[in-house]
Amino acid sequence: MIHTTVTIIQIIAVILLFLCILVLALKPANSFSNVMLLAFMAGFIQNVGYLLELLSYDVTTSMNAIRVEYTGGAFIISMFTWFIFKYCRHELPKPFLVVFILEGFLVLLGVWSFGYNDMFYTKAKFIKDAAIPYVQLGHGWFYYVFAVLTISELVTNIIMCLLSYIKTKETYMRRNYAILFVVVVMPLLGYMVSIMGNIPGYDLTPLSVALSIIVFTLAILRNHVFDVAKYASETIFNNLDSPVIILNRGNGFEGANLRAKRLFPDLFEFKTGEYIHDEKILELFEEDMAEIKIDDEVYEVSISPIYSGDDLIGKSVILFDITERKRQLEKTKELMDKADQANVAKSAFLTNVSHEIRTPINVIMGMSEVLFRDFRRQETDEYVANIRTAASTLLSLINDILDFSKIDTGKLSIIDEEYDAKKMYTELITVYKFRCEKKGVQFIADIPEDLPKYLIGDAVRVKQIHNNLLSNAIKYTENGQIKLKVSYKKRTDYEIDLIVSVEDTGIGIRREDQNKIFTVFSRVDLKKTNTIEGTGLGLNISKELVSMMKGAVNFKSEYGKGSMFSFVIPQKVSASKNDLFGTINTDMGIEVFNTNYTAKDAKVLVVDDSKTNLIVAKELLKKTMVDITTALSGEECLKLCEENEYDIIFLDHRMPGMDGLETFEKLKAGPNKCQNTPVIMLTANAIGDARDFYLNMDFTDFLSKPITSKELIEMVKKYLPDEKVLYEPCIDPSI
Ligand code: ADP
Repeated sequence: MIHTTVTIIQIIAVILLFLCILVLALKPANSFSNVMLLAFMAGFIQNVGYLLELLSYDVTTSMNAIRVEYTGGAFIISMFTWFIFKYCRHELPKPFLVVFILEGFLVLLGVWSFGYNDMFYTKAKFIKDAAIPYVQLGHGWFYYVFAVLTISELVTNIIMCLLSYIKTKETYMRRNYAILFVVVVMPLLGYMVSIMGNIPGYDLTPLSVALSIIVFTLAILRNHVFDVAKYASETIFNNLDSPVIILNRGNGFEGANLRAKRLFPDLFEFKTGEYIHDEKILELFEEDMAEIKIDDEVYEVSISPIYSGDDLIGKSVILFDITERKRQLEKTKELMDKADQANVAKSAFLTNVSHEIRTPINVIMGMSEVLFRDFRRQETDEYVANIRTAASTLLSLINDILDFSKIDTGKLSIIDEEYDAKKMYTELITVYKFRCEKKGVQFIADIPEDLPKYLIGDAVRVKQIHNNLLSNAIKYTENGQIKLKVSYKKRTDYEIDLIVSVEDTGIGIRREDQNKIFTVFSRVDLKKTNTIEGTGLGLNISKELVSMMKGAVNFKSEYGKGSMFSFVIPQKVSASKNDLFGTINTDMGIEVFNTNYTAKDAKVLVVDDSKTNLIVAKELLKKTMVDITTALSGEECLKLCEENEYDIIFLDHRMPGMDGLETFEKLKAGPNKCQNTPVIMLTANAIGDARDFYLNMDFTDFLSKPITSKELIEMVKKYLPDEKVLYEPCIDPSI
């Protein structure tokens, strides 16, 4: 009866173990489950062996069953140990592993070679007439070694589980260690009972192992002991560097990771579901809380609702430490402020330098123009012309440097307006024909007659690009010819591609230098060119300007033979004026502009703190015969305006005491006799969008120094009342 019962129990155990193996094998594998699967198989073999033992009827069948039993039993506890170490996050020391394997194989050797040696069993006798028939065995020395080792391993496993249980703070892992504890205690008890021989004929070890495997399988199914994702998420949650707190819908505490608990030590005390009173923690869950400062650290607060299906069941708050980011941002801001300040200082410096240089250039150019016009003497004419050329070279240098700085700081913009292309080319051809003739170089201009006369683009900049290429061609050509060729391609009815090329028979550019010439400040072939004036900025500026106009620059050059620079820029065609270019008539040497009108009754006031500038203005306007009054300061200007009426006022910007802007404001505010008089800003300040700046301040117009007689005379005519302008030349021989 007892025999039958234990046999049935053993059969059930074997079947259940088989199912356990299936359950484990069907779960997605990981490093834990692989070790455990081996242990399950060992347990299964052990239990099958024991079932055979229960069914055996003599010594031979019994001993064969025992051999099968030990094929699994010799390894099962070692495998348990290996698994427990792994699960408790410890690496099993290698020597132990060797001992375990050796131990298992020696047991197998002992059991399987029974009859030939008495290492494990010394004798075997089958007891038939017991309640459970069994084989009585005499134990050899290795049997005891194996017993000691097995008990030590089981005890170590128990200690390991206990320690891990105590050490870990993760609730999920704690429960798993508790399950493992039960799993390792069972075989220990079973084994102890067996070796003490308390139940004659019955070995409890296989069944205790089977039970432990079954309990463990249930834990896998119910508590997801091997669920790596869950395990990982819990580990990640706890090790996360950002504090996380979870509350349920009623502000009850649901959980917090270690980082959060360290930040708010009160959290260590809270039990799940307990209502949180801590104001500081509750404050974190307020909707408008974006940032919080705790001690010296700044955290970004991120609240997320937690849903189960469609039901809101709680909320979590994550704090991101942004202290370093904030610090970096502040540092960057500080650096940017410094850079901005440096940039402002640089701009101010450039404005000053440009202003200071333009002022004397204004005098040099103005005075030499007056000399050339009014005091012509054969002996000095050439000197005066040289002074003018030197001054204009200096001026173009200053302009280049200013342009470069504007491009560098992104302040240069292309301002499109309608311009007269014929007028521009007439001026260009006049100047360059004159300069070529002086140098003994032939100048050829080829412009199609059907080119639209009025184009829309940035006339100043378009002219500047032409000037740069043409003046380079002259600079680097000693004889032969320079050819300006213009053509165009229609894009639409109102847009063309203006195609310009400047070809020379000059020194050319060496192949190895060709990729350098558009680089800032680069001048090539210095042996030949260092006597020629230049900064190495012109081509770079031209290329930038062309690309700002969405065009392209090209060039080809042969060293010793000449170069050809070309560019293409899209330009709009005036919709209102459809005149064509026609032919060009260029007069030579109109270096000095002669006025074609006089205005004896006109009164013009020029305000400038520099006496020489006033003389220049006066001299340049002399032939118009306008009545010119000068003032050396803003204060003087206002005083004059209280008593007199003027047709035009030219006002300098930078003056000591009251500057041009303040004077202008006071003038417009009145009361005086010139509140409605056109006021033209006449300044050496040319940086940035000076023109826009002054026009936005409500100045009537703007002229930049150095001024030419042509500009000044035309500007006066533009703002004088028509009735005061007489189209008759000045006949006073003294003027
Ligand atoms: P630079 O003020 O020196 O003329 P650019 O930027 O206009 O500066 O030109 C850069 C360099 O390219 C010049 O120094 C010169 O060596 C070379 N270069 C430019 N145009 C010509 C040309 N037409 N013929 C020969 N060399 C040229």
